[in-house]
Amino acid sequence: MLTLTFLGVGSAFAKRNFQSNALIEAWSAGPQSQDAPDDTLLIDFGATGPLALHSLSKQPGYSYLNHGGRIHYPAVRSIFITHLHSDHIGGLEELAVMSMYQTADHPGGETYRPRIIAAEDVLADLWEHSLRGGLSARRGGRAELEDYFSVKSLDSAQPQGADGFTLLDRYTFAIFPVDHIRIHQAYDWPTYGLLMTDGRSGETVVYSSDTRFDRTGFEERMTSSRFNFHDVQLEDSPDSVHATLSELRTLPQDVRRKTILYHFGDHWDDQAYAFVADEFAGFAQPGHRYVLFD
Ligand SMILES: [Zn+2]
Ligand SMILES: [Zn+2]
Repeated sequence: MLTLTFLGVGSAFAKRNFQSNALIEAWSAGPQSQDAPDDTLLIDFGATGPLALHSLSKQPGYSYLNHGGRIHYPAVRSIFITHLHSDHIGGLEELAVMSMYQTADHPGGETYRPRIIAAEDVLADLWEHSLRGGLSARRGGRAELEDYFSVKSLDSAQPQGADGFTLLDRYTFAIFPVDHIRIHQAYDWPTYGLLMTDGRSGETVVYSSDTRFDRTGFEERMTSSRFNFHDVQLEDSPDSVHATLSELRTLPQDVRRKTILYHFGDHWDDQAYAFVADEFAGFAQPGHRYVLFD
């Protein structure tokens, strides 16, 4: 079984929800019969990630993430990074330091390093322009990204960006480029969505990451999937870097009905958006364990 739980479902600037980061859990049996999953993966870990993970770790069914009231960071085995906005990477400094600190006296001697996974063009800037400032300084010499993480770099130059990784030898995660910030043109600032596939049934689930409305890039994937998680911006605005709700309403009804919207602002519960529950699969709920594949 593969499950997804949002740590938060809010936009970068939301205050009533934590930012849109998600916990993937891979189970040989399932949460009914296991205290902890066999493998875990965070999709992004933003500035509110540590508070959100702490909050989730106190929820029933997630106690493996908690150790004596604190986040048990070694329970996070991998982190996939979609892109470099702070709502997607701002929690990594804490995760890196705490993973190392909490396992420093492991009997095996080796400190535990979680695996960080990203496209090569995201990874290069992740260290050089974001994490190096806080993480490179340490007693006795400079640290590199590899001192904190085992690094899996995905080939973003493959056609369709179809490189990826696997959990439990069954669930594959293929990246695809999405159209988020345009420095000069579409797709020129590295940002990636995920297509998750159950190798046993062939079923798929789409995780859009932060993206403009991009019918050409998404419709085929979103039509053939089991269901979809898609970025949404509630208000219309010209040239938005997120898919607006009005744009998403132009998708075919059968696609909308299996699309769960996330990354929204603080007014999602206004009466004006009540139609989302009928027209779409609704707004994503934080702390709810979605079963992606049985
Ligand atoms: Zn974002
Ligand atoms: Zn973004």
